[in-house]
Amino acid sequence: MVKRAFAALLCLVNGLLIPVNLWAENAGNSANHGVILQYHHIATGTPPSTSLAPEVFRRHLEILKQGGFSVLPLPKLVAALQEHRPLPDRAVVITFDDAYDDIAQQAAPMLEQFGFPYTIFVSTDFVDRKQPGYMTWDQLRGLQAKGANLANHTRSHLHLLRKPDALSQKQWLQALREEIDGAEQRIQAETGEHWRYLAYPYGEADAAVIKAVTSWGYLGFGQQSGAVNKTLLNSGMAPRYPFNQSYQDLDDFRVKASSLPLPLKKETFPGWVFDEPVQPELILALSTQRELKGQLNCYASGQGAIPLRMQADNVVVVQVSKPIPVGRSRYNCTLPVAGQPGRYHWHSRMWIRKRDDGSWYPEP
Ligand SMILES: [Zn+2]
Repeated sequence: MVKRAFAALLCLVNGLLIPVNLWAENAGNSANHGVILQYHHIATGTPPSTSLAPEVFRRHLEILKQGGFSVLPLPKLVAALQEHRPLPDRAVVITFDDAYDDIAQQAAPMLEQFGFPYTIFVSTDFVDRKQPGYMTWDQLRGLQAKGANLANHTRSHLHLLRKPDALSQKQWLQALREEIDGAEQRIQAETGEHWRYLAYPYGEADAAVIKAVTSWGYLGFGQQSGAVNKTLLNSGMAPRYPFNQSYQDLDDFRVKASSLPLPLKKETFPGWVFDEPVQPELILALSTQRELKGQLNCYASGQGAIPLRMQADNVVVVQVSKPIPVGRSRYNCTLPVAGQPGRYHWHSRMWIRKRDDGSWYPEP
């Protein structure tokens, strides 16, 4: 009550510049979850699957500014989740993968104008080689000086799951460690930053990679959708919502940015990578006693709504009726948040299917 009254007073003092509900939201520091947004290029003329137009990105920032969101630096979100410190409701983190130079040219000036912090995941070989299209260390240091954080995206942006046949699993993990520790050392040497946050290239990892990376002291970040809480962060593959030209709908952005994690007790699934036609069975045991029928909805890439089977009151079996496609695909599940129209619990599971002869599909 005291907090609310104080919030209302602040609004009066500040005139009408700040909407009352923003303060009310931010005064209620009670959430134990947040949302991480993921972008690559903020540009036109770059590949559509990894690009968002600057004017759409600006709309995202306007929605975050006006919609009662608190945009936090990634280290602050991580620390709050790890240390059980309360977060503002609608806490959002902005991240960019690859350190493309259009981020310095297009996104950074807008972010500065809005006063929003952000994190860039850097593949250091491209910066070290001064590869055209990527930022230089000077540019990265310039953004760092204005509040950006810099984190690890491996040295060479390799596929962490594509072990050459000639290498043993042990040799492969050693090579991955050199990639990941090597990038961390380069970022630290050039900028002093040393978070041990790793964004998996292409959002790809499996249980073995996650286990290794976690044992080396890194927190892993994926490209599967969903809000994040402490459990998901410590799972070794924290969700991030990717945005590109296929996701230009601003209502979709609002829903994702204000989403909550699914109240999950346990998640069971048959594997990460498949080399045959499969219809993976995802079993979600939810910790809510709510009626889920007609409320929980799951969708598969290219297949639309997935039929759901109730195994028990709060245990749902999610399984597509046709095999998943070759390549990366996902199941996305949503459940409306009780009493908060327009907000959803959101959870995603990524699948990777190799070609039927066991070879890797070409990366588009
Ligand atoms: Zn990348």
